[in-house]
Amino acid sequence: MRYVSTRGRAPELAFDDVLLAGLARDGGLYVPKIWPTLSAAEFKSFQGKPYPEVALRVIRPFVAGVIADKDLEAIIARAYANFDDGRVAPLIDMSNGVHVMELFHGPTLAFKDVAMQLLGGLFDHVLGRRGDKITIVGATSGDTGSAAIEACRDRDAIDIFILHPEGRVSDIQRRQMTTVESPNVYNIAIAGTFDDCQDLVKAMFNDMVFRDEMKLSAVNSINWARIMAQVVYYVSSAVALGAPDRRIAFSVPTGNFGDVFAGYVAAKMGLPIDQLVIATNANDIMARFFDTGEMSMRPVEPTLAPAMDIQVSSNFERLMFDLCDRDGRTVNQSMAAFRDSGTLRMADGALAEARKLFAAMRLDDAGIAATIDRIWRQAGILIDPHTATAVYAAEEKRREASVPMVVLGTAHPAKFLDAVEGACGVRPALPDRLAGIMDLPEHVRSLPNDLAVVQDFVRDRAAGTAGAGAR
Ligand SMILES: *Cc1c(COP(=O)(O)O)cnc(C)c1O
Repeated sequence: MRYVSTRGRAPELAFDDVLLAGLARDGGLYVPKIWPTLSAAEFKSFQGKPYPEVALRVIRPFVAGVIADKDLEAIIARAYANFDDGRVAPLIDMSNGVHVMELFHGPTLAFKDVAMQLLGGLFDHVLGRRGDKITIVGATSGDTGSAAIEACRDRDAIDIFILHPEGRVSDIQRRQMTTVESPNVYNIAIAGTFDDCQDLVKAMFNDMVFRDEMKLSAVNSINWARIMAQVVYYVSSAVALGAPDRRIAFSVPTGNFGDVFAGYVAAKMGLPIDQLVIATNANDIMARFFDTGEMSMRPVEPTLAPAMDIQVSSNFERLMFDLCDRDGRTVNQSMAAFRDSGTLRMADGALAEARKLFAAMRLDDAGIAATIDRIWRQAGILIDPHTATAVYAAEEKRREASVPMVVLGTAHPAKFLDAVEGACGVRPALPDRLAGIMDLPEHVRSLPNDLAVVQDFVRDRAAGTAGAGAR
């Protein structure tokens, strides 16, 4: 499989180079040159198969020519061995044909683990074969950092540095990062905001000398391998509910558009998906786009579902590329106009095409709280604020009562204790994984919001000059 950039000006790459590159050199995102398909008979053969086996079959065509089957099988097995539910993505029946798919049984209790755990193994494999090492740097406002750290910990070929704004992430979120005992993990608390952290990371990537010297790499949500890993649970859940003999709908809590785009990929591979519902919080750029056909930026508003607090959904560019007949020039022009004017309009034909599969719905904080409370009373199930947006959107946008609707449950309710308790009066129990986390020693270095200081810190540690004690 070869990969092309959505902006049409970067070289075609193989899977391993796409994995390490993240963003394409022309500013675009990599997508497979063609969508591989699976036959109805193949989908049928997945019925009753364990998750890792389905993962092997779904992922295989995307890494063909780069990773051998037996290696891929081993990487997948290790990625999901650490989940506290062997089914990886179990379905909970909510009645009326609605099912919640619990994607939060990984080490950090959110759906990002499903992709990130695989990514860690893929990095290790590819780097090991090349005899290479990389330095991952990232900024986090909470959840992504811990998922990345858990995926990269204890790997010889990777050093990982995660910046968070000092005093601005919750105690649990910070401790999920800082209590990890691993010699290649470095937590940096920056005296500043999340935007300051992100600016520091960007500046490190823009410093080409530093970037090459450190072999910087990223695990953010524009990395194709994360999308690829997420396609698997659309397939496994659909098959469990009767696909390919039956059409299935999904409702997806959406921020950067990576997760719901994985649903689109599953449809392109031949999975009979009836509908993909995009659920947003008050940061509703995608909901407004599907209503009006115009995408326009607004300032980010903090909400009860912070992992979806975004201004622009980066992965939407991948859908746009397909809807524009894979014409990189059109995408390039549209993105340039969007950058300059803050608005983007899609051709009417392309919009109509997108609306056949996608629908979008927003839910503000009051609605999120009301939904958490209602589901607790009706079904006796605690859901987190992100999942709540998708439960509501599924109810509002469902087209066919006879088509099963899968709501993606993206975070464990215990990750958002205060929001859940505030909504329904019940405090979720801390799962075993988090028990004791408040007593473990923390490893974190406080640094000023100063690029040179942060770069020196990274340079010293990534060069292998410091042991675990220096963290
Ligand atoms: C990241 C995240 C999302 C949004 O997923 P995207 O792929 O960015 O659209 C939703 N819910 C939770 C809990 C998340 O961590």
